[in-house]
Amino acid sequence: MISSRMKNLHPYVPGEQPKDRAYIKLNANENPYPPSPKVVDAVVNAVKNHPEKLGLYPDPDSNELKKAIAKMLNETGGVLCRASVNGESVSPFESDKIPFEVTPEMIYCGNGSDEVLSFVFYAFFDGDRELVLPEHTYSFYPVYAGFYEIPLDKIPLNSDWTLNVPKMLSDANEKNTSIIFANPNAPTGLGLTRNQVREMILKAPKDRVFVVDEAYVDFGGESCIPLINEFKNLVIVRTFSKSLCGAGQRLGYLVSNPELVKNVTTVKNSLNHFPIDFVAQTAGIAACSDSKYYVDCAKKVVREREDFIKFLRERNWFVIDSQTNFIFIKKDGVPAEETYKAIKQAGILVRHFSTPGIEDFLRITIGTKEQMEALKSVMDKI
Ligand SMILES: *Cc1c(COP(=O)(O)O)cnc(C)c1O
Repeated sequence: MISSRMKNLHPYVPGEQPKDRAYIKLNANENPYPPSPKVVDAVVNAVKNHPEKLGLYPDPDSNELKKAIAKMLNETGGVLCRASVNGESVSPFESDKIPFEVTPEMIYCGNGSDEVLSFVFYAFFDGDRELVLPEHTYSFYPVYAGFYEIPLDKIPLNSDWTLNVPKMLSDANEKNTSIIFANPNAPTGLGLTRNQVREMILKAPKDRVFVVDEAYVDFGGESCIPLINEFKNLVIVRTFSKSLCGAGQRLGYLVSNPELVKNVTTVKNSLNHFPIDFVAQTAGIAACSDSKYYVDCAKKVVREREDFIKFLRERNWFVIDSQTNFIFIKKDGVPAEETYKAIKQAGILVRHFSTPGIEDFLRITIGTKEQMEALKSVMDKI
């Protein structure tokens, strides 16, 4: 009864979402802040004033949402925690300024960036050659590789947890294949600078798509959106789930050359013609129109992160520097799995991976000040 394809499926295991008690959730890199009040108003008003829209198909290409995303990227430079807010106006950090105008034709919107990534795998990666990626990176990539029967070439990280860029490049060139990684990377939290990525793309195969997943870039990385005009093979994937406080809305997008956007759109129109429902489109448009709110949220997360890193280092934890909304930590003589369990006992969820190579680490999402104070007191007790 079961297709032979099923044998290649190794489904992703998400951070647990238990219902047995009200945990403080620091295990799935969600944003601890609610969406902007403008998002709430927009959704309530849209449903109230236009109930008929719930009975009609939504815009299959999310045109208004693409316009709103383009506007937000141009306004903020694509790195929220460094943008500045002056009254109602938001402007990018000098070095984040995008040297051209991002237009809706450069954007594809999907039902969470997980779906966007799935379509990217389908559109650009072939089963006849290995896809190059870091050994430790977003754990959904190998899941899609199994689904689409794409073999992988997993490159171990350097001993300081950075990407082994020379090895990734030499393998990609030898196999004439694509590269994918998250920047900043997960679960390490470390990123490459835009210049480092630029050097990398210059040395990578030109006729293969190069994918950078910027799920966490708003918390301190450098966005590669300014490179889109220079490299016709660059695809940048981003999400509303982390910095835009919208994990429950399921919105993600990619930014690339319009020709590549057309290919992803073709995949969408062959699989899921209406990926984004009317309510999610409404919420996304409203979020992008209030970048000021999200700049403030990102700055708060960064402040809490730095404060928590200081707390841990004072207690001799090994903490990898982070440009994200999570940290990756370990301590000699402190078994990670037992620590995770003890913290859970105390009502706080963090993430432990049993993956060989990173099994000594805990990944902790940065929450609100109150949540981090609660975690600190738990960690001082155990
Ligand atoms: C969270 C995350 C995603 C998925 O985001 P969704 O938009 O919620 O599907 C993609 N890539 C990375 C690296 C992530 O951490």
